[in-house]
Amino acid sequence: MVESITKKSFIPVRINRELCKGCGLCVEVCPHQLIRLSPEEINKKGYHPAIFDDPDGKCILCTQCALVCPDVAIEIVQMIEE
Ligand code: SF4
Ligand code: SF4
Repeated sequence: MVESITKKSFIPVRINRELCKGCGLCVEVCPHQLIRLSPEEINKKGYHPAIFDDPDGKCILCTQCALVCPDVAIEIVQMIEE
């Protein structure tokens, strides 16, 4: 099945929740407070993983969250308009 991606549904910051150790560094570094630790979810390692939440499209793709993550759990994906 082909996933249809619109600008609205496009998620530029993807966090691998199973790699996350809930250290909160990405939460602290984001200039727009777009990442938080999930209070409900617990991953296989026993941590509350980081989640990206940007309903207003404020992410500036600065990549700081990905660069600071010690476990390389964050990937930045850029949409290329044709
Ligand atoms: S790329 Fe920058 S603005 Fe976007 S979530 Fe990461 S730190 Fe925040
Ligand atoms: S910096 Fe990485 S390991 Fe730490 S909370 Fe964020 S995603 Fe998880």
